[in-house]
Amino acid sequence: MANAIVEETFETRYTLPPIEMIEDPPEEIRQKQKRVRELCTERNAILLAHHYQRPEVQEVADAVADSLKLSQAAAKTKADVIVFCGVHFMAETASILCPEKTVLLPDLRAGCSLAASITAEDLLEWKAQFPNAVVVAYINTSAAVKAESDYCCTSANATKVVQAIPAERPILFLPDRFLAKVVAWQTQRSNVFGYPGYCHVHKTIQPEQVARILEEHPDAELLLHPECGCVSSCMARAAEGGLPQERTFFLSTEGMLRHISESREREFAVGTELGIFHQLHKKFPDKTFYPVNPDAVCAFMKTITLDRVIRSLETMSPEVRVSLETAGRARRAIDRMLELA
Ligand code: SF4
Repeated sequence: MANAIVEETFETRYTLPPIEMIEDPPEEIRQKQKRVRELCTERNAILLAHHYQRPEVQEVADAVADSLKLSQAAAKTKADVIVFCGVHFMAETASILCPEKTVLLPDLRAGCSLAASITAEDLLEWKAQFPNAVVVAYINTSAAVKAESDYCCTSANATKVVQAIPAERPILFLPDRFLAKVVAWQTQRSNVFGYPGYCHVHKTIQPEQVARILEEHPDAELLLHPECGCVSSCMARAAEGGLPQERTFFLSTEGMLRHISESREREFAVGTELGIFHQLHKKFPDKTFYPVNPDAVCAFMKTITLDRVIRSLETMSPEVRVSLETAGRARRAIDRMLELA
């Protein structure tokens, strides 16, 4: 199927919420954060926030991390309630890992265009064409898709997961077409078949933007999330010498933070959702960061506001719960991901 047709189909599967501008004065933000912490204590709740969340939400969280680390935090928490400041598939993953806990997602509009690219029915059809294949599902998928998969992975451990699969077995890698290419390239495997899904935010990070930012900041290292629309072109350019291979990196958000903390470089061109810049500026105040695409904002992530976190903890809703039957089947793939973390 041509990519244009695929994209048209995927776009009918989700509705982008509007991005609200929140302009609360600092004192009001502090009061709301205080209220969140009081409610967390009352409810014995842990608040987990993804790197793409609003800064004021990141600041009030118990942990701020990528999907892999947040899943690990959910798996080991002793809290009764998990408030997931992220998107729906993350809350589902927490519910699968902790079926006895209450998992709250403060706004149910927090979906994900990438997760919406593939349904369990799509996957069953695809699997039928490759009966000998191993299915590796990116964590950005619904619980129903995970239940039909052999392994789960995140951008932080996708390569490790693929390397753990015997070389002679074909791999159906889903749903991100760009990450599939990075993984095939990094593992040097020709039998990784990528599903044509994509994240509508990362897809907009394009080769022209990479070229422009490096022209403006020639000393910057280039850090790209593997979901970016420019990865194929950047991998090819790095291989041909058009981009300095030793200064071009494909990394998860957590991988970016680790890389920067270990690097002696002072400047970085960063290709991912803009929420990460809050942690970058906070953790590395003496380094300079340039967004490859200054419009890369995820509307789904930004639905979570302090007001909605407060309301969620007060009303103990909306709750995300995965049926025990689906959770049982999805758990196997998630456990394998955690074993290879
Ligand atoms: S940034 Fe993309 S992959 Fe991440 S939650 Fe938003 S839509 Fe999904």
